Amino acid sequence: MAETAHSTATLRLTVGDLRIVHPITVPASAVPAADVLPALQGLVNTVVAAAEAGLMKSGGVISCRKGCGACCRQLVPVSRTEGERLVALVAAMAPERRERLHARFAAAAAAIEGAGLARRGDRTDRDLSVAYFALGIACPFLEDESCSIHPDRPLVCREYLVTSPAELCAGPTQEGVTPVAVPKVSLAARGLQEENEDWFALALLMKWARTRPSGGKRRTGPEWVQRFLKGLARK
Ligand code: SF4
Repeated sequence: MAETAHSTATLRLTVGDLRIVHPITVPASAVPAADVLPALQGLVNTVVAAAEAGLMKSGGVISCRKGCGACCRQLVPVSRTEGERLVALVAAMAPERRERLHARFAAAAAAIEGAGLARRGDRTDRDLSVAYFALGIACPFLEDESCSIHPDRPLVCREYLVTSPAELCAGPTQEGVTPVAVPKVSLAARGLQEENEDWFALALLMKWARTRPSGGKRRTGPEWVQRFLKGLARK
């Protein structure tokens, strides 16, 4: 089998208050945007680790723990690029696990549609988030209150950490929740394929998959990274 050629570079970025130096490796040839997502996940992991290190230096303590899935009932916005990767991930799962997931996605979509929240309408982001959280719909990937796709979880899930007591995360408006100040690199990934690209709720992934736009662009890995960096500079 022919080996895929890769391009490697060292990114030196200032995001928020953080200085980030991160080696990145992407396919050298023209690929769909979803193929550079692992590289962006690595970058987000580095940004989150730097934010955590800064917090610890100032005496802060992260209260998130394995087995606490309160935040996994929030509306998780996902880009088309991430959606494509997650659909492929589910498709590659063993049939039993895949069927269980499809059933959970169908139940979640029915609850969201039943509540009239499948579309934003004229709601603000805040109103939509509060109404969505009130439904108490667990992310279909949540199992035993832990993320069953942890290494592949969306970028925005990686960026969400808190220092406040865990029970506050289960409150209806998350009042008193203190998130760690992690620069939202995930926002730059949202417009990777198209400017002003819309997002959808992760729990609607399978519904989105049935109507998703086809024929996405192919660009070389370095070109996708350039687009991502431009988006990051705009945020
Ligand atoms: S993908 Fe994982 S971390 Fe993100 S909301 Fe779902 S269960 Fe939670």
